[in-house]
Amino acid sequence: MDVTHPQADSRILPATPDAIAEAAALIRHGRLVAFPTETVYGLGADATNDNAVAAVFAAKDRPRFNPLIVHFAETAAAAEAGDFDGRATDLARAFWPGALTLVLPRRAGCAVSLLVSAGLDTLAVRVPSHPVARSLLRAAGCPVAAPSANRAGLLSPTTAAHVAESLGGACAAIVDGGPCPVGVESTVVALGGGSAAVLRPGGVPVEDIEAVVGPLAAAEAAGERPKSPGMLERHYAPGLPLRLNAVEARPGEALLAFGPGPPGAALNLSPGGDVEEAAANLFAMIRALDRPRFQAIAVMPIPEEGLGRAINDRLRRAAVHDSS
Ligand code: AMP
Ligand code: MG
Repeated sequence: MDVTHPQADSRILPATPDAIAEAAALIRHGRLVAFPTETVYGLGADATNDNAVAAVFAAKDRPRFNPLIVHFAETAAAAEAGDFDGRATDLARAFWPGALTLVLPRRAGCAVSLLVSAGLDTLAVRVPSHPVARSLLRAAGCPVAAPSANRAGLLSPTTAAHVAESLGGACAAIVDGGPCPVGVESTVVALGGGSAAVLRPGGVPVEDIEAVVGPLAAAEAAGERPKSPGMLERHYAPGLPLRLNAVEARPGEALLAFGPGPPGAALNLSPGGDVEEAAANLFAMIRALDRPRFQAIAVMPIPEEGLGRAINDRLRRAAVHDSS
C-alpha cells in the first residue's frame, strides 16, 4: 500500500545554518540525513562508515549490487578518492559543481567504504551545486554517499515532503531546501581504460558533455549486465501504468501534457515546450497524478534533445510493465 502521509518520526529541518550544522553532526555520527541537491533529494550517509552505508542500502531496500554516488564539497576532495585522468579533469572543470557524476577507478587507500562501490573497482563521484548540499558537505567534513532518497525502483523525490512520504521513518532528519531546480538525477559518465561512456542520461545534457570530451559511447551493449543499475529496465516507477507518446487521454487516463496541450490535460510539464521546465516538474507531476481515481497516466511526446533525453529515459523505464 502507498504510504501517503509523512511518518510521525521524520524531522523536517529548515535549511538554516544551525539546522545544517545539526544535520552534519548527525551524518558524522553515522545517521542518515536526507538533503536537497540540484537534481533530486539524496539520502546521505558518511561514505567512510560501513554501518552508515549499509543503513542506506537497508532503508532504500536497494540491491547490494547497485553502487552509490559519493558527494564532495570540492573537486580536490573527490580527487583523493577517484583517479582523474585528463578527460575527467576537463569534465570536472566544465560541469562541477553540478549535475554530472563521474565513475572513476578507486584510488589506492581511498577512505570510502567498499560497500559504496558494491564490489566494483570504481567509484562514482560528484560535487553538487545546490547551496544547501554544499553547506552540508562542508560542515560534515567527510565524503557523503547519497543515492536518491526513495525506495529502490520508485520515483525520485524532488521535495522534502516526497522524502517524508516514502523514507521519513529511516532518516534522522530531512533538510528542506524547497523543490529541486533540475528535477532529474545526474548524468553518469564512466571514464577509464581509454573509453568514455554515458551510463545514465541526466541533468547535464549529453550534447554539452560531448562538446568537452568528444563522442561518448552508449553503455548498453546487448546482453551485457547493466553497468549502472539506474539502467535496470524497470525503474522510477509510479503505481499506475504509464502510456507514452499519447496525443490525448483515453477514458480513465490522466493526460500529462507537454507544450500547448489539448484541453482537458490533467497537468502540463511545460506549456511553453521547455524541456528544462519539464524536467523540474516531471517527478512531482507524475506523483500528483498517481492516484486511484485514474487507471493510467498518458504522457505526451517529449523531444529527444537536451534534458529531454533524461526525461524520456525515465519515462521509458517507468512505463515498463511490472510482471512480478
Ligand atoms: P542514484 O544515486 O539512486 O540516483 O543512483 C546512482 C546511479 O549511479 C545508479 O545508476 C548507479 O548504478 C550508478 N553508479 C554508482 N556508482 C557506480 C559505479 N561505480 N559504476 C557504475 N555505475 C555506478
Ligand atoms: Mg535513484
